[in-house]
Amino acid sequence: MIEVNNVHKSFKHNEILKGVSLLVEEGEVVVVMGPSGSGKTTLLRCINFLERADAGSLTIGDLSVDLHKASKKEILAVRKKTAFVFQNYALFNNKTALGNVMEGLITARKMNKDEARAIAERELAKVGLAEKADAYPSQLSGGQQQRVGIARAVALSPEVILFDEPTSALDPELVDEALDIIKGIAQEGVTMIVVTHEMSFAREVADRVVFMEGGYIVEEGAPQDIFVNPKEERTKQFLKRIL
Ligand code: ATP
Repeated sequence: MIEVNNVHKSFKHNEILKGVSLLVEEGEVVVVMGPSGSGKTTLLRCINFLERADAGSLTIGDLSVDLHKASKKEILAVRKKTAFVFQNYALFNNKTALGNVMEGLITARKMNKDEARAIAERELAKVGLAEKADAYPSQLSGGQQQRVGIARAVALSPEVILFDEPTSALDPELVDEALDIIKGIAQEGVTMIVVTHEMSFAREVADRVVFMEGGYIVEEGAPQDIFVNPKEERTKQFLKRIL
């Protein structure tokens, strides 16, 4: 279970998150949608302390922290329970695919190299990259790099995985492949928050869709309700544009 409560975040005088609250149950897949600039990425980044919120609280399982005042130790504790999949993969260019997946297991999870290697090999195989374990990011396609990014997140066995537009940098023909992998992870019962504009993914995989605009959650509900029967005018307008 992950819950954020009343998150506020401004950049200079520009308030991007104006009091966002969201509860995601264990095993639930929540897709966050909304126009560009509505604060979706900022929300994910505040949850993982890639940005420091101005106010708000976060609970993950038995851990509760203040998103503004959290200590270094609390931030590390949150990061142990979460993993982030970046839009632009954010791999270490000087490490192989295997090295990228092993890194967090060794540094954050304090595993020895053999343990980390075994898990990393297993996770790379699960995303179809067993053959590419020794390749560097520059030798991989965007789709393959993102699969390494996903394997890296899953390898950590986090309580929640945060996906920030994981397919938006991919060539169209590679999008479905990446989404299928994310779908497979969802089916294993992993709790996840996915920022994406991929409607078919949201329809098929999301338990709930959250629509954000202007720094607020405007509407949320089951995909069939949000897509077929949106209640809010702003949701209707957004869906008209992307459908
Ligand atoms: P998109 O779908 O385009 O990714 P989004 O809903 O994810 O949009 P955010 O990336 O959260 O939106 O950005 C919300 C606003 O905050 C944007 O106007 C952006 O320019 C601004 N912003 C984000 N990060 C920073 C930063 N580090 N410094 C200043 N402004 C920022």
